[in-house]
Amino acid sequence: MPEEPHVESLLAQGYHFVDPDTGAIVPPIHLSATFHHSVDEFGYRRESSPTTATAEKMLAQLNGGPTLAFASGISAAAAILETVRSGERIVAHHTVYQGIKRWMLRQADRRGVAVSFVDVRDAEAVRASVRPGETVLVWTEVVVNPTCEVVDVRALAEVTHAAGARLAVDATFTPPLTIRPLEFGADLVMQSATKYLNGHSDVVAGVVTARAGDPVFEDLRTVRKLTGSILHPLDAWLLMRGMRTLGLRFERASANALLVARHFENHPALERVSYPGLPSHPDHAVAAGELTGGFGGMMALYVRGGREQAIRVAEAVQLIVRATSLGGVESLIEHRAAFEADVNPVPENLLRLSVGIENPQDLIADLEQALSEA
Ligand SMILES: *Cc1c(COP(=O)(O)O)cnc(C)c1O
Repeated sequence: MPEEPHVESLLAQGYHFVDPDTGAIVPPIHLSATFHHSVDEFGYRRESSPTTATAEKMLAQLNGGPTLAFASGISAAAAILETVRSGERIVAHHTVYQGIKRWMLRQADRRGVAVSFVDVRDAEAVRASVRPGETVLVWTEVVVNPTCEVVDVRALAEVTHAAGARLAVDATFTPPLTIRPLEFGADLVMQSATKYLNGHSDVVAGVVTARAGDPVFEDLRTVRKLTGSILHPLDAWLLMRGMRTLGLRFERASANALLVARHFENHPALERVSYPGLPSHPDHAVAAGELTGGFGGMMALYVRGGREQAIRVAEAVQLIVRATSLGGVESLIEHRAAFEADVNPVPENLLRLSVGIENPQDLIADLEQALSEA
């Protein structure tokens, strides 16, 4: 091959998969829970098995480091957090995916792990919060769920490393087609593969990739084995199927979202549209610098009139689906404060919109009618 193919080419071909035994160009599904002792590579499925291992090989190339696949995004995140010992400290962005934040708060409560929440976009605030020798982990998302703030990963990695800590990045909103956080200095990247990587709202899965050579990787493998949180082979197979179209899906979702965001940016029924691709977004310069393959399909709509009005708008959509989750081919909308205002500073008038791959004019028309109907 003349040069290394682009990532969307690799994805479309399942990383040029060819089964050595049969020539099949689609990986087989192996459900066996146990493996003959004459084979070294696999023993028991709670530790590793062939179909999940094939998915991990693809994910490792995608993220750029050794990779483990988990039963959910949350179990992937929990494995990282589990490596923190009592007495050690975590610094995290003030808004963290709510389930992960609940885990952090539980660790603080039950395990004596100190967690401080700051605006990690503010380097001074991070510097003031990290304690060299005690803070072992800094946690952020690239584009933050659900506010769509954007974090400068490279800048945060510098402050984190100066304190001797690891930077873990939840890149669920921003698949590796647009940013590979390890290349920006992150030490661990985690994704809910339930979202963009699979993209069809029919799998729950999580991924952790470490920087090559980081000893924490073996610790993560141990946590996965001891908690039984490995990804099931059928889900691993569906995930590989979904990843083949990630390039197309993410490109279309990003293009659609930009059209939707531009259309509604100055809409009288909205206070604001938070979309990283809009020049009016406060973090747009950071986003433009690090999201090189599209700004994604996620945006936050701040509805004029507060909580009740926002809920009415969510109830008034007819094409867009009112459901939780994101990153799938179908557009989803949700009033987030209902689910997380107890742990995250999420405005009551915020609707999270996950833009899918439908015709953008249909999405715009549906939101227009919902805003005028509500
Ligand atoms: C959904 C999500 C998770 C959790 O992933 P699950 O697969 O639902 O367990 C973690 N982080 C972010 C940013 C998410 O959107």
